[in-house]
Amino acid sequence: METISNKLKHQNGEPVEINIKGKKIGRDHFTFIAGPCTIENYEDLLKIVKHLQKMGINFFRGGAYKMRTSPYNFKGLGKTGLEFIKKVADETGMISVSEIVSVEDVDEMSEYVDILQVGTRNMHNYRLLWKLGKVDNPIILKRGMSSTIEEWLLAAEHVIEAGNSQVILCERGIRTFENFTRHTLDISAIPAVKSLSNLPIIVDPSHSSGRREMIKSLSWAAMAAGADGLLIETHFSPDNTICDSEQTINFKILSEILEKKEELLGLWEKK
Ligand code: PEP
Ligand code: MN
Repeated sequence: METISNKLKHQNGEPVEINIKGKKIGRDHFTFIAGPCTIENYEDLLKIVKHLQKMGINFFRGGAYKMRTSPYNFKGLGKTGLEFIKKVADETGMISVSEIVSVEDVDEMSEYVDILQVGTRNMHNYRLLWKLGKVDNPIILKRGMSSTIEEWLLAAEHVIEAGNSQVILCERGIRTFENFTRHTLDISAIPAVKSLSNLPIIVDPSHSSGRREMIKSLSWAAMAAGADGLLIETHFSPDNTICDSEQTINFKILSEILEKKEELLGLWEKK
């Protein structure tokens, strides 16, 4: 019988563990990644990242190139944003995550950012995935909003087959008939990926729900379901952000999420 795993050449065997700047991402370690949707200026980014660091978080996110649905919305600071990311990462020792949107940016961006994220709109951009197979940076591969688990795992296979085995899968919600939430978080993708693939699987409750008041429960649900990490849009003043305000949480909510860490990760013997 043909199954998804028959189609995967690389995603069997020992779970993949990614080591970056002395920190690990994988089945045994839970990874919190937090930060703004988009980088607006250097001072605010530094302030956010220092706060995350105080909370014991080692990874920060921030978009420099934004894939906005409307062409009239802010598209990010571009190269200047990359410079801010690098400066903040160098100053704090924190590990950076930012979205790569185009093949032509790969060489430059791989020098400025620690972990390159492929967004939902680019999951099927196979030429981008091949090029990311040639860099040393770990890759976060978000699930296409209309993609099946099989298509997503095969997209990861494109990166690995091209030479980069450091892929982290990110469930970020899929399109369904429901429109109360921005997308529908597919919690079942977590155990599915864990049974089909040896790659780490993290969850983005921000883009999946689009609703700030849901981030805590969805984060706890992801932790309880066995996810290997969370990617959460966080800002000290969520209402005043240019992009994705309504789904961005403040540090208070983030610390409430962290409070249940031991209890929920204990279910999976994760640290
Ligand atoms: C993001 O994480 O900044 C983002 C745009 O996410 P997605 O590609 O999942 O929409
Ligand atoms: Mn966003």
